[in-house]
Amino acid sequence: MTSCTHLDTITVTELPEEVAGCEDCLREGGVWLHLRICLACGHVGCCDDSPNRHARAHAEGGEHHPIIRSLEPGEEWCWCFEDELAMLIPQITGQTRIPPSPML
Ligand SMILES: [Zn+2]
Ligand SMILES: [Zn+2]
Ligand SMILES: [Zn+2]
Repeated sequence: MTSCTHLDTITVTELPEEVAGCEDCLREGGVWLHLRICLACGHVGCCDDSPNRHARAHAEGGEHHPIIRSLEPGEEWCWCFEDELAMLIPQITGQTRIPPSPML
């Protein structure tokens, strides 16, 4: 069985109460579809179906922050970009209020 070897990069175990949207899209004037949070630093980025794929760009940005969690309501999955592995991490608590996607 494949497993993620990057769990020690996780420092964010409590999700923020509310976020304004994809940090990079907000700064650049872009739009996002779904939101993901970096579990190493709390960076909020957008999914691979968004035009700018900021969550992936952050994960591949050289800071070694490979694991994201979905911030979409009702979604609890995490994803490791390096292992290309989906997983559930029960230690992550909280639920984040997010604004509606500007693309919808
Ligand atoms: Zn991993
Ligand atoms: Zn974005
Ligand atoms: Zn990060």
